[in-house]
Amino acid sequence: MRIARVARPDGPAFGAITQGHVALLEGHPFGELRATDQAAPLDDVRLLAPVIPSKILCVGRNYADHAQEMGNSVPEEPLIFSKPATSVIGPGDAVLLPSLSGNVHHEAELAVVIGRLTRRVSVEEASEAILGYTCADDVTARDLQRRDGQWTRAKGFDTFCPLGPWIDTDIEPADGLDVSCRVNGETRQAGNTRDLFFDVPTIIAYCAAFTTLLPGDVILTGTPAGVGPLVDGDEVEVAVEGLGVLEHTAVSEE
Ligand code: ZN
Repeated sequence: MRIARVARPDGPAFGAITQGHVALLEGHPFGELRATDQAAPLDDVRLLAPVIPSKILCVGRNYADHAQEMGNSVPEEPLIFSKPATSVIGPGDAVLLPSLSGNVHHEAELAVVIGRLTRRVSVEEASEAILGYTCADDVTARDLQRRDGQWTRAKGFDTFCPLGPWIDTDIEPADGLDVSCRVNGETRQAGNTRDLFFDVPTIIAYCAAFTTLLPGDVILTGTPAGVGPLVDGDEVEVAVEGLGVLEHTAVSEE
């Protein structure tokens, strides 16, 4: 199932994506979803970020080729950082390139959407926490990341976490899914989830050992090699095989 969050006249609603249409649903993916008799062509609706998480956790250096391009090795344990919920934007929205940074990079990533309250789970049980997956861009002010010595500012600007276009509840990263980033139609990143150093259950168990994961929380699983700068006017596509394509733009802050 593909669950999208769509703008409606009376506020955001959820819908199931089927063959170019959105079948509107009542309820909430973390409670109960019920079918309605309302549907709309996908082209006629505005998709929103599929969730508004209470927190976004991210794994750094989880693909060896990306760790290498940054002059690092893959850590012995998952390297976890976070992005604030205020960094989330939806499909088609613009990343604002802040005047505080001169070097903002794209990082295409597979994102896990947590479906239930989860704490202290084993790796074997961790998959039960998953509602599904979506695409993410872990936008990063690379100059501030280096200068600050920690990553809160560099990763945390408003608009620095595009999510979408929907939550896919059926794909399986362990099967090996291509994760790619195109900028203005040119492929910049092309990785595969089979190369995740720490797999999704390991990451969930590691995070749930120190914090309670809530329904709607999002975990970004790391980016493959090929990160690079975004400039004003860029059109970015983050794709995960079997899931879909998240599009966003980049615009210089006024
Ligand atoms: Zn990242």
